[in-house]
Amino acid sequence: MGVKKNYIVFLIIIFGLQNKVISQNMVNQDSIYKDLVLGKFNYKNNNLFVKANPIHTSKTIYLNNEVYIAFVDMYKQAKADGIDLKIISGTRNFTEQKTIWERKWNKYKNLQPFDRAKKILEYSSMPTTSRHHWGTDIDLNSLSNTYFEHGKGKKEYEWLIKNAHAFGFYQVYTNKETGRTGYNLEKWHWSYMPLASKYLNYYNTNINYIDITNFEGSELAEKLNIIPGYVNGISEEAKNAILTD
Ligand SMILES: [Zn+2]
Repeated sequence: MGVKKNYIVFLIIIFGLQNKVISQNMVNQDSIYKDLVLGKFNYKNNNLFVKANPIHTSKTIYLNNEVYIAFVDMYKQAKADGIDLKIISGTRNFTEQKTIWERKWNKYKNLQPFDRAKKILEYSSMPTTSRHHWGTDIDLNSLSNTYFEHGKGKKEYEWLIKNAHAFGFYQVYTNKETGRTGYNLEKWHWSYMPLASKYLNYYNTNINYIDITNFEGSELAEKLNIIPGYVNGISEEAKNAILTD
């Protein structure tokens, strides 16, 4: 009898601890802070982040725990429907984004600074302004829109358009004909809006142009309208995701 009772007490404690660990590893509004939103942290040793299983990725990729759980659910459903999803980019920190930005900054050195930044901004974010800092956004299968217009890629894209919402994922950089501002169309970039909307909300309340600094061309951020035009330049569907789902 005593053994049984102890066992039950043991189970209750373990269950309680597990719940505590899970809740500690989830993002809530209070656990978002400036450096987390700006990509100035090490996602490899942050307990909000997890390394994805290589079967889901093309390289070593980290995502926010909650986002990865949602992705795995989506991956399984896609697989059952004959669709293979592969994450080709996930979390990137400030330094990694700065490397991308400055590589392109050098590539377009023949352009005047404003046009130079504008050219990079067709597809790449300024460090401190990327959704990839948050661990909520993933690039899937190919970084080419044309890939998603034929054969296998087309099937994958159609599957995502039809099903990704059910798992919380939205295409944020849709075509710009409807008046969306910011980055060009990206059929590969999907955002887990239940969490990303919290980060965006925090960004809009707490981040200013003074925080967008320490890389080539950063002084142009305000003139380029980076916060309203790019950081907030996402599809209406994504913006409304939380209201409708
Ligand atoms: Zn992306």
